[in-house]
Parts: sequence; structure tokens; C-alpha cells
Amino acid sequence: MTDENKKNKNTKLFLHLKKWLEKAVLDYGMIEEGDRILIGVSGGADSLALLDLLDSPMLFIPKFSFIAVNIDMGFDQTYKTYEILEGYFQGNNYTYIMEKTDIGNLAHSDINKKNPCFLCSRLRRKRIFEIADAEGCNKIAFAHHRDDIIETLLINMFYGREISTMMPNQSIFGGKLHIIRPLVYLQEELIKKYSKERQFPILKNECPTSNTSKRIYIKKLLDGLEKDNKEIRDNIYKAMSHVKPDYLLPQKKK
Ligand code: SF4
Repeated sequence: MTDENKKNKNTKLFLHLKKWLEKAVLDYGMIEEGDRILIGVSGGADSLALLDLLDSPMLFIPKFSFIAVNIDMGFDQTYKTYEILEGYFQGNNYTYIMEKTDIGNLAHSDINKKNPCFLCSRLRRKRIFEIADAEGCNKIAFAHHRDDIIETLLINMFYGREISTMMPNQSIFGGKLHIIRPLVYLQEELIKKYSKERQFPILKNECPTSNTSKRIYIKKLLDGLEKDNKEIRDNIYKAMSHVKPDYLLPQKKK
């Protein structure tokens, strides 16, 4: 963190977000002493906030090191956004890896037009796992927040016929790697507010699907429902910790 960066970080909002980030990390045992964490940075408000918050003096979280990793999807062939993000990483003395790929275009090619998000996330994630392995990282931090967790539950129910969502701390490859989501307690609205406050160089998402995805549909649906019931997102989030298996249909045998 640069001295300039340190100076500007002391607002009420910063302290609030950091408090809840630390609480989530502790509640779900996300970070242990000596962890090396790959932080996925797309260049959107959420991932820049995650990077910024994890790069802060922590009260309760043990010491860890991190590397910022950006997988450029190849939507912006002029690579202007790539340069902006690289300038930000360098300006803050971050250790980083940026990789130019053609994943975005591949996911939208004629053979895969129906479901670009599936292939896109799959290829991007595969590359992130490979980089984590090569860089000796035992954790991967993603910037999914509370609203993402709620929306994913509904997406999986509406389109995937299952009741599930993204986990705050998920062990993969037999425990060799963990995916952690330190923003799990934070609302998207506050993260966006923070990214304005900190004037992050938020990159425009050039993906042609970004405004028509299932996630956007669910987001709008929830916004509509919220007009009648302000608690709707909160209720859905809390319902995930109050599951009554006895009052669901019996599991089908596989
Ligand atoms: S919205 Fe675009 S960038 Fe995001 S997962 Fe879907 S295809 Fe990929």
C-alpha cells in the first residue's frame, strides 16, 4: 500500500466495511497465518474494493500475503482498460499478474451462443486455478458479496433445479485450495459507494451479455419485489441459515 493510499483510508464507510469483512473472515475461518492468497480482480467495483480492503491493516486477521490476478477477457481489443488496471496495480505497488486472453470472444462464438456465461466462467476459473498453483497460492479470494449470494440461490433454483449458492469458504481439489469470499456480509450498494469514495478506476464491462444475463434479470426482479417489501433480500439471505430439511421434499435416490 502506498503512503497516499494509507492516508485516504479512514472514513466511516471504510471502517464499517473492514469490520464486516474481518467478521466474515473470522466466522468462516477464511484466512490463516502465512496464507498466500490469489485475489481475482476483474477491474469492477467489487473486486477493486476487495483488493483495497484486504490491503489494509487488520485487527484480527493473521498475516498473509497476496497477489492480484486479472484475466483480461479480450472484449476490448485496444487494451485501454488493461492499461488502466495495470497502472493502478503499479501505482499501489501491488504484486500482480495480468493475462490477455480471448475467452470472452470464444464464449460468444457461434458454437456457444446459447450460454456464454457458462463457458466464460469455466475457462476463466480454470486459468485462475492454474495461476494459483504456479504462484504457490493456497487460497483464491473472489469478490462475491451478499447480493451475489442471494441472486445465485435464485438463479440455481429458477434455472438449475437445485437449492444452492456460493459458499463463503469452499475447499476444492481435496483441500489443496480454498475459494474464499471475504465480502459475503457486505451489501453491493455499500461496496459501490466505497468504490466511488475511493475513486477506483472502475473498468467498463464490455461483455455483450453483461446487461442481459440471468443475474441481471434476477437483480431486476428483486428490485421490483423490494418496492413492496424492503426486507426481501435480507429475508432470503437469512433463510439460507434457517433451512428445515424435514419440511422439504425427500431427496431422490441417485
Ligand atoms: S456476463 Fe459476460 S463476462 Fe460475465 S460471465 Fe457472462 S459472458 Fe462472461
